[in-house]
Amino acid sequence: MFERILIANRGEIALRIIRAARELGCETVCVFSQADRDGPWLEQADHTVCIGPGPSAESYLRIDRIISAAETSHADAIHPGYGFLAENAQFAEVCRDCNIEFIGPSPEAMALLGDKISCKNMAREAGTPIFPGSHDAIEDPNEAIQVAKDIGYPVIVKAAAGGGGRGMRIARTEEELVDGLASARQEAEAAFGNGAVYVEKFLEHARHIEVQCLGDKHGNAIHLFNRDCTSQRRHQKLIEEAPAPGVDPAVCDGVCKSAAAMIRNARYSGAATVEFLMDRDQNFYMLEVNTRVQVEHPVTEAITGVDVVKESIRVAAGEPLLKSQDEIEVRGHAIECRVNAEDPDRGFMPQPGLVEEFNVPGGMGVRVDTHVRPGYRIPPNYDSMIGKLIVHADTRTDAIARMDSAISEFRVGPIKTTLPLHRRLIASEPFVKHDFDIHWVERLLEEPEPVAAD
Ligand code: ADP
Repeated sequence: MFERILIANRGEIALRIIRAARELGCETVCVFSQADRDGPWLEQADHTVCIGPGPSAESYLRIDRIISAAETSHADAIHPGYGFLAENAQFAEVCRDCNIEFIGPSPEAMALLGDKISCKNMAREAGTPIFPGSHDAIEDPNEAIQVAKDIGYPVIVKAAAGGGGRGMRIARTEEELVDGLASARQEAEAAFGNGAVYVEKFLEHARHIEVQCLGDKHGNAIHLFNRDCTSQRRHQKLIEEAPAPGVDPAVCDGVCKSAAAMIRNARYSGAATVEFLMDRDQNFYMLEVNTRVQVEHPVTEAITGVDVVKESIRVAAGEPLLKSQDEIEVRGHAIECRVNAEDPDRGFMPQPGLVEEFNVPGGMGVRVDTHVRPGYRIPPNYDSMIGKLIVHADTRTDAIARMDSAISEFRVGPIKTTLPLHRRLIASEPFVKHDFDIHWVERLLEEPEPVAAD
């Protein structure tokens, strides 16, 4: 096992990793920016190192500063958490060159699954369902037109290197397709330095369902069943649950197994999530693979009892996965609400500033992952998530009731949060009946439906 793990992240995920590391007997080093110097999670780390000013580009995204912090503090591994450098293959490579274990996949596996075209090819080989469309990058507009004719409009042009919704264009006509191809390529070239784009079928009404996978360095890969993340706003997940309600178990089983096969074939070590859209006839189509731990991992932990973060550390240290696929069972139902410091009544305006009141709920089946406490000042520099409220119960109905009760107990002030919105969402008919698609929250809020993340 590692002696000392450096955590290249902040907030609730830094605290989550500190807890896992401590249970495994590892010391922790937390890097922090000047804006985070009073971050309560830093008190829990064994060592802390300031790596620069508040803006992420000058601190949490600075590979050179993080590596030198690891070297001077004698860390033998780095956990990137999510966001920042977590899916940066170059960072994983620099770690390897410096003899520091990157807690996550090899740079090769990350690149293979991070590129949407090579990922699609991996999926095809593993029998993971993908969207119909072009298999390779498309340069010639005539080729795109032919693909669209074969699969039928609407189609979506997507960047191979895409992320954050950039380099995506929906096309309902040939004209839109030709325009979309050119503009998506331009946008992708500017954003990612890689202008490769491809065309696939665009699904109008879909649910977002994803499969949590874990792989080790001994060729083992398993899945921890699925999560439903259909409740989103502008492609930002708001509520996640596990398992995905109302999905045919046989369909689900096949999709989960194929996701694990894909991870195995990629010689993947660590936590990965294979994301899908599911149409109304329960056809699954792979969207992409996230090569890191995700915000919503606790719902999977609740229903399987597997500690996803500890497992990711263990496998990085060369240990085999603790459990085989046969030993993984689903128990009950879990729901997570993301508590964002945003004002839903004012266009989700971020709410940085002093948190005076912060009274978290408790009780059976209630978990709160947060770095916030009364007196904490939310810096304006980072994303607005200040915590996650997770509940677990025997059934989905019980979990909804437990969530409602937990939210009513959760007091935050004077800053506004998404908690009151969550209470409304979990009580509304589309959610209760899980008769929803990825735009249901926007419809409820009567917001225009965006076509891609901004
Ligand atoms: P990014 O990596 O940029 O986030 P994704 O491939 O994850 O891109 O897609 C982002 C979002 O765009 C998805 O969550 C989904 O809502 C929408 N999307 C992407 N591809 C399709 C598709 N083929 N049909 C319908 N919606 C899609």
